[in-house]
Amino acid sequence: LDDAKADSALDLQMMGTAVGSKPAPAAATKMPYTGSSDPFSEHQSVGFQRLIKAVPFAPNTEFRELAAIISRDIYQENPCVRFTDIAGLDTAKSLIREAIVFPMKYPELFHPPSLLGPWRGLLLYGPPGTGKTLLAKAIATECGTTFFHVSASSLVSKWRGESEKLVRVLFELARHHAPSTIFMDEVESIMSHRGSENGEHEGSRRMKTELLVQLDGMTKSHNSDPDKAAAPVFFLAATNLPWDLDIALLRRLEKRILVNLPTTAARECMFRAYLPQTTTDAFGNLLVDSDLGYGELAHITDGYTGADLKLVSKEALMVPLRQILDAMEELHLDDATARQPLRRAPVTDAMVHAALSKLRPCCSAELLEKYASWADRFAST
Ligand code: ADP
Repeated sequence: LDDAKADSALDLQMMGTAVGSKPAPAAATKMPYTGSSDPFSEHQSVGFQRLIKAVPFAPNTEFRELAAIISRDIYQENPCVRFTDIAGLDTAKSLIREAIVFPMKYPELFHPPSLLGPWRGLLLYGPPGTGKTLLAKAIATECGTTFFHVSASSLVSKWRGESEKLVRVLFELARHHAPSTIFMDEVESIMSHRGSENGEHEGSRRMKTELLVQLDGMTKSHNSDPDKAAAPVFFLAATNLPWDLDIALLRRLEKRILVNLPTTAARECMFRAYLPQTTTDAFGNLLVDSDLGYGELAHITDGYTGADLKLVSKEALMVPLRQILDAMEELHLDDATARQPLRRAPVTDAMVHAALSKLRPCCSAELLEKYASWADRFAST
């Protein structure tokens, strides 16, 4: 192994093993790599076995190494998100259903596929925390596709050097497991038009080119190979900064869908889901006051994203918990039965208001205006 290769092998070795887990931060304490044993312990991973099984050729070491990364950090067994789990976003949902879900579900109605088949490339854009990842997962769940979730910023920062090959193997595995969905979030971090202006790294440029080549290959398969057209690979990209995207990528993501801030009705749905009135703690105490004013809370939270509301709700749920935690610490109640009489108060409107005052919405009116004007020029209807 030369130095660069040994380094990247070490980085791979340091990665977490859980499927779908966030990659570990760059390791400061690298262990010397002896090269004597398999650093990927792939035989332990069911995901790896499943991925590699579909490959119709004997994969060489490099392919196996890259497939091991994909099985650990990119491949997700079953995202288990339904469209009904997502509050609001009715326009985005119906555009997605029409573009991907229905052509997959009712292929006989969308014939011939070269004219009416599902859209292979789709861009979800909008403020962070509004449900883009949830929508991608829902597509994979509803269409029963194999799901690959890759963070574009990891491709740049973590797998630099390997990223071009990783992209190639990723698409290859996705084709072998078709129908598949490749979801790439923060796509602007690799496909920004600024890259070329700022004297881009050679490796990044090669990876960008590889991604574009792979995307071209996907769309062509519609016409050339009827079997592949029947089992497609979808490429979904998400970004908070659509105006930064490289025009070459935009051209390949013909369907562009704005995933906007939640409406009042959607916010009420989310409050009801995150602060449910019937849920109890381990001792049977209700977590939430039966008089909680969901409608009013939704009304006063214009500008908050779904992710914000989840945080606010968690913060509100912590208020009564903190009160009993303090009492327990004071009384030194180590035994669970002794702790039982400590009754948790249910979450009230005042507690949610207090949580709201700590967490302000981060999306400004100017930013929303910027999304709207970008949508005017580039969005799908
Ligand atoms: P994005 O990809 O747009 O940054 P995510 O899809 O990752 O946002 O959303 C982050 C979290 O916020 C989700 O896991 C979910 O808990 C919550 N959330 C955001 N939007 C919605 C929504 N429309 N319905 C339900 N939950 C939502």
